[in-house]
Amino acid sequence: MDNSARESKTGSYRQSQIENKIRIARYLYSQKDKILDDKIEKLLSQLDQAIDESRKIMEGVGVTKACRECGDVSCCGKGIEEKYEVTTLLINLLLGVEIQKGDAEGCYFLTKSGCSLKVREVLCVNYLCDKIRRSLSHDDLVAVQETCGKELDILFSLSELIKRKIRENLDYNGL
Ligand code: SF4
Ligand code: SF4
Repeated sequence: MDNSARESKTGSYRQSQIENKIRIARYLYSQKDKILDDKIEKLLSQLDQAIDESRKIMEGVGVTKACRECGDVSCCGKGIEEKYEVTTLLINLLLGVEIQKGDAEGCYFLTKSGCSLKVREVLCVNYLCDKIRRSLSHDDLVAVQETCGKELDILFSLSELIKRKIRENLDYNGL
């Protein structure tokens, strides 16, 4: 690991925790040739597809529209970003997401048009507020949960594989 990445591991007194994690994720992304292999590439592509499926079903049952209209009472509160793992940020980078601070009040990743991340962690993917739950039929709720469950299963397998590669090939155990 080079000096900038080492500094990012110890520099939390100067940066927020999430900015520190983003710096580490960017460093790891710069080393992606030592991380990627066929299995990881395949899971990345499966995850991309699964996220599309989740998006489609969220749009289909009206969750996306409701969340877009939520505005100031959005559940994407400040501090949620601190729960994010470096590997989830790295997977966003591997799927072409440009990680930056959102322009809305609340979570670091929140923009005025919604979440700026493509790959989100379980606490964001699985969360549906009471208002949304009440508005969905039982069948729609089950369909949403099943589709998002597939996305999260792939994310879990992918994250574990990536962590192992980072430990083995980059000699980094900080994840
Ligand atoms: S889940 Fe509920 S509270 Fe959260 S953004 Fe959507 S509508 Fe708003
Ligand atoms: S969905 Fe995105 S903006 Fe909302 S809390 Fe999760 S990471 Fe933050």
